[in-house]
Amino acid sequence: MKSGICYLVGAGPGDPGLLTIKGRSSLERAEVVVYDYLCNPALLKWAPESAEKIYVGKKAGAHTLSQEEINALLIKKTRAGKIVVRLKGGDPFLFGRGGEEAEALADAKCAFEIVPGVTSAIAGPAYAGIPVTHRAHNAVLTIFTGHEEPGKPESTLDYQAIARAPGTKVMLMGIEKLDAIAGELRTAGMPSRTPVSLVRWATTGAQQTLAGTLENIAERVREAGFKPPAVVVFGDVVGLRDKLNWFESLPLFGKRIAVTRTRKQAGEFVERLHALGADAFELPTIRIEPPTDKREFYELVADSHIYDWIIFTSPNGADAFFNAFFEIYRDARDLGGARIAVIGPATAERVRSYRLQVDVQPEKYVAEAIIEALQKETSVENLKFLLARAEGAREALAVELTRLGAIVDEAIAYRTVPETNDVTGGMRRFREEGADMITFTSSSTVENFLALNLPLPAGTKTASIGPITSRTMRSRGLAVDVEAKLHDIPGLVEAIKKYW
Ligand code: SAH
Repeated sequence: MKSGICYLVGAGPGDPGLLTIKGRSSLERAEVVVYDYLCNPALLKWAPESAEKIYVGKKAGAHTLSQEEINALLIKKTRAGKIVVRLKGGDPFLFGRGGEEAEALADAKCAFEIVPGVTSAIAGPAYAGIPVTHRAHNAVLTIFTGHEEPGKPESTLDYQAIARAPGTKVMLMGIEKLDAIAGELRTAGMPSRTPVSLVRWATTGAQQTLAGTLENIAERVREAGFKPPAVVVFGDVVGLRDKLNWFESLPLFGKRIAVTRTRKQAGEFVERLHALGADAFELPTIRIEPPTDKREFYELVADSHIYDWIIFTSPNGADAFFNAFFEIYRDARDLGGARIAVIGPATAERVRSYRLQVDVQPEKYVAEAIIEALQKETSVENLKFLLARAEGAREALAVELTRLGAIVDEAIAYRTVPETNDVTGGMRRFREEGADMITFTSSSTVENFLALNLPLPAGTKTASIGPITSRTMRSRGLAVDVEAKLHDIPGLVEAIKKYW
């Protein structure tokens, strides 16, 4: 039996971009992923679909598994020869009980490795515009946990020492007890006017910040109904936030945007929205599958050299075509002399990624425009066209080309089916919290979203990638608040940014 290994991986504070490269590569190899409340579930998209994903909870007060049970689980899976990734919020060795898990693995003689992560103790303040050290203010940083009961005899926390230490203090956990803790710190001599800031769900689009002083912070937390998880920063560096508050100033900061695309494609879109500060999440509605008649598709691909033109109408169609093509042939020249037409810049880019130039690409990204563009180039009469497209998609292009005397074969390259898995929790999130905006990038995402029967609260804005998708939306009773001018992902992101 192959021997297992357990990686204790820091998931970072929330922003998926703050997972380390090493963390991501261990996730990509994982056979079992054990994760908890503070890990952004969006990270699970890096794990293989086949990996077993086990949620072990640990939201304060609602433990799904006890620490002993988690240790036992890690040992059991590792002993079974699995590559186990134990994904822990922030850094695994900072107040994450990662040390205990590593000890348990060591005692059980299980192989393990530690992959440190970006801790919320430092990244959280950073995303609120607060550097935890600064030459003009301090040279010492104290990180402590507020988890222990202040004043209780079993507490090992020495508030005197914390209050006396120079420099910035960062507290993790325990904001429910902030009142008592602030009291202890004041009694121990920390000045009442010490600036204090709380950062909740730091580094995500849901980030919230609250500021005050040691004197009034507990009251402000109460008034605002401010809830965990949050990091608390005490010290003069909090003042730098006025000048350095970069993240919360991003154009889409705080906007909750649901992205309906196939899981494979959603990543780029979500990343672009994150980069603008949005709280974007994937709501995968469709999945790309091989066509029902795979054999016929392969036969048409095998014959592609007999065509005068090959037309691609989507990046997926191009991928399906070339995957099949290179399964059949080893030499790109087997494509013969066919010329290539595409709809849309994303499709063109995908075709070029196979080192093939695009001969015709209409200005407008709709089927009708391609005919116009082709006719400028050539008379289509008696020419042979191979049209690679999705199962059940529009056939206007084929019908019109045939009417003009062309010979058209339609290669049904792939099929989109409703996505029913909810690996990254997007569907649950949408059901529970809704979104400020939901985006559609094709008619099938509209149809498949509606097929999921999720509630769409009034006031949820809608964004569409282009006129065809908008038409489908309207025909199904959805409003269209934003429509992209350029009908690709960057174009849609730009339109959303303009809208807000
Ligand atoms: N190992 C983690 C900390 C685990 S203790 C790390 O290095 O970040 C859990 C506490 O971390 C929470 O109660 C909260 O204080 C803090 N925390 C973790 N992620 C956070 C986030 N995204 N925003 C604010 N606080 C966070």
